[in-house]
Amino acid sequence: MRPLVVLVVLAFVSSAGDPFVDTAPERLAAYIRVDTTNPPGNETRGVEFLGTILREAGIAYDTVESAPGRGNLWARLRGNGKPGLVLLHHIDVVPADASYWSVDPYAGVTKDGYLYGRGALDMKALGIMQLQAFLALHASGKQLSRDVLYVATADEEAGGFMGAGWLLENRPEIFKDIGYLLNEGGGGRRFGTDTVFFVEVTQKVPVWLRLTAKGRSGHGSVPLAQTAVTRILRAGQRLADTRFEARVIEPVANLFKGVARFQRSELKSAFEDIGAHVTDAAFLQSLQMTAPGYHALLRNTCSLTTLQGSKKINVVPPEAVLELDCRLVPDQDVDQFIAQVTTVVNDRDVSIERIMSFTPASSSMDTSLYRLIQTKTGERFPGSTTIPGVSTGFTDSHFFRDIGIQSYGFSPTVLAENEGAGVHGNDERISVATLTKGTAFMVDLVQSFATD
Ligand SMILES: [Zn+2]
Repeated sequence: MRPLVVLVVLAFVSSAGDPFVDTAPERLAAYIRVDTTNPPGNETRGVEFLGTILREAGIAYDTVESAPGRGNLWARLRGNGKPGLVLLHHIDVVPADASYWSVDPYAGVTKDGYLYGRGALDMKALGIMQLQAFLALHASGKQLSRDVLYVATADEEAGGFMGAGWLLENRPEIFKDIGYLLNEGGGGRRFGTDTVFFVEVTQKVPVWLRLTAKGRSGHGSVPLAQTAVTRILRAGQRLADTRFEARVIEPVANLFKGVARFQRSELKSAFEDIGAHVTDAAFLQSLQMTAPGYHALLRNTCSLTTLQGSKKINVVPPEAVLELDCRLVPDQDVDQFIAQVTTVVNDRDVSIERIMSFTPASSSMDTSLYRLIQTKTGERFPGSTTIPGVSTGFTDSHFFRDIGIQSYGFSPTVLAENEGAGVHGNDERISVATLTKGTAFMVDLVQSFATD
């Protein structure tokens, strides 16, 4: 009889599981099967998918297209007037080249405990964790202290101007009483046996520039002393040789201090007090060689990316173009920076045009939501540390920081070593265990904050 008893106990345990946690993997698999590759986006397909789930749960929602096929969705649970919380995710994903994947990137395949697919990490998984938390909060029937909004947007992967940016511009009333927002950009990482949660509070500010050089055109057989191409090459070389002044802003100092003890011995003391080391050119140079991600947080940077000259080998073109992906420390004046680039280039025949830029903004660590995240991560991952994160990349959070909403990049997951690599890459995947554990965490976090 004994085996039977064990079986009965097991059946009881599994049926006692949380349905919002247990259904997360199949929901994420289904969401991955909705192809929302950007370009073109087709986020309306994702809106229909999410809308069906909300409708079945009896939750009202609104949708709007910023352009044909570019859907956005939001749903609100009403509370008692404390500043509201937005759970934000983007529906679109970057393209996937199936020939480099071991499985179909849009099939939602589970293999060896991992759920594979484009968006498994960036960021349909977090969108599903947020959805399950939102549904659980609704199902709990609890009185809420604040409004909680579930918001799914288009176009993040191309800058968000047809998604989050568009909504703030065209439907600002949605965010009227909002004080807080949770989005992608942070989460748990392992350093050896230690677990560290990064809560992203700010990010470097992208400033994308196009340099265009003009010159005399001609035949390749008759070289000229100066051409559009020689000018653009000289401008590019001057920029590549430039190191903008290194400076430490407070969130970056906190980040370095927080990760200091996980660094190899020669970096430990420098990271403890990074402000005292940024004037040391040799230190900065070696940091750029060994840890370019940390180095990039200490100064404005420009990567030379696209370069165009002639389309024909024997034609000297009248125009040559170089594009720069510059990222500013988030306390800088963009116009001042462009003036600095102009000085470095120092050539009146090279024009500098701004393709895109954001305004700098940071969120505070001194809020009830930040402290709650800190407490909850400590409870769920005993011995873990929570550190404010500063991202070299950008997310949609900057749109919300601009209007004073405290926005945090936070995924309640600790990725295994081989999981993180798939973001924008091949075989993007999340372990089923990471997903369910993260969902349970998100359900708890949102419930605590919405009923405080
Ligand atoms: Zn993303």
